[in-house]
Amino acid sequence: MTLVAAIDRDPAEELVSKLCRVVAGFKLGIPLLLRYGAAYAHRLRKLCRDALWIADLKLADIGSTMVASVEPLLGAVDAFIAHAVVGVEGALDQLANTLEEHGTKLVLVVAMSHPGASSLYNKLVEDNIEVARRIRAWGVVAPATMPELVALVRSRLPEVKVFSPGVGAQGAKPGDALCAGADYEIVGRLITSSPDPLEVAKKVLAEQKKRLERCWKP
Ligand code: C5P
Repeated sequence: MTLVAAIDRDPAEELVSKLCRVVAGFKLGIPLLLRYGAAYAHRLRKLCRDALWIADLKLADIGSTMVASVEPLLGAVDAFIAHAVVGVEGALDQLANTLEEHGTKLVLVVAMSHPGASSLYNKLVEDNIEVARRIRAWGVVAPATMPELVALVRSRLPEVKVFSPGVGAQGAKPGDALCAGADYEIVGRLITSSPDPLEVAKKVLAEQKKRLERCWKP
């Protein structure tokens, strides 16, 4: 399965129950976690235990603050997302150690999906990739809206899971990032704002499949 649903808003429980059968995982966003707290994330997980659960806390701080931020969610999720740009020493090294102790994965943002990212953030993509390599991140986030960056990340980090947001509301088409080498496409509003989220999720999966058939050359 190649689809991760970004759950940033209500009705989260209904969305998780409906989508559980068709998605690879769920990415819980700050808006939802601020509104309902960590205990809610633990409850949500019980609705779809076998999915890959990711907390997107947008971590970008010194190590001790990032460690304190993840603690309430340990056990509720399989992975946390942090920004590579904060660097290793005194920051991601401490976070990575804590996550490893708890059998939890680290996913690093190496490039972002919005247009303004091109003016500064994404210029650091090579350095961010190096950070991901040094810290041995399990996964990275790279933008579906900029498939050339996905392809770059895939070529530099062949073993790492690549998650690509930006499909739907931000303009990328299902399968664009998969064709460029991503493992999963993260889709939020296209699915979560629909009156029939399950139907839209199935349509995204079908479009991904069709696109993959066309992009893979024998
Ligand atoms: O609704 P939409 O499909 O645009 O949601 C994309 C999700 O991925 C949101 O939760 C957003 O915060 C997240 N994200 C992103 N671009 C990044 C990193 C995370 O869109 N570079």
